[in-house]
Amino acid sequence: MPEPFGRAPSHLLRTGDTPACPRCGSASVTFVAFFEDLSRFLMRCICGHSFVLMMADETPAASREDRVRAMIVDPHEDTRELYKEVLMFGGFDVVAAATAREALQSAFMSRPSVISIELRLPDGDGLELCRHFKKSKETSAIPIFVVTGETRSERLAKARRMADAVVVKPCSPASYLTHVLHLSGLHAAPRRR
Ligand SMILES: [Zn+2]
Repeated sequence: MPEPFGRAPSHLLRTGDTPACPRCGSASVTFVAFFEDLSRFLMRCICGHSFVLMMADETPAASREDRVRAMIVDPHEDTRELYKEVLMFGGFDVVAAATAREALQSAFMSRPSVISIELRLPDGDGLELCRHFKKSKETSAIPIFVVTGETRSERLAKARRMADAVVVKPCSPASYLTHVLHLSGLHAAPRRR
């Protein structure tokens, strides 16, 4: 099998570093694809340069004080783990919840800067969870990103009125990270397709 990204120049990234373009120095780089063990990421800069980031072999800098916290609410373990990996790669401290109940408890304790929510939760309606977060004064300022397998248009329309961004699954890790970075104020707006 060919080596993915074998021809693009590689750059070492230490956990917690902000990815930047090795050619022009810009931080306006977009995540394009990742190697399957999540050790290498193909990035593209606004200047047109493509490059590979390799993760430095060190333990994640979970103790970094200045990491922005994101919360993932999704009942599917695989999805939570995948999105958690890319958010940690993007420099976030991540908390995850599998149910609406866990999400409510966790949001008030961990005070995330951005929350992603699947509308289909085992113990409640994700729309109700969004409404609750938007109405509570402790959480009303937190951007909400709905990432859902829901396809019913009236439910998606309600989600679009309430949430700050809505994406129907499948949502690639690259697109997921870009939206979360944008909503948390760390990155330029995702390009419209
Ligand atoms: Zn560049």
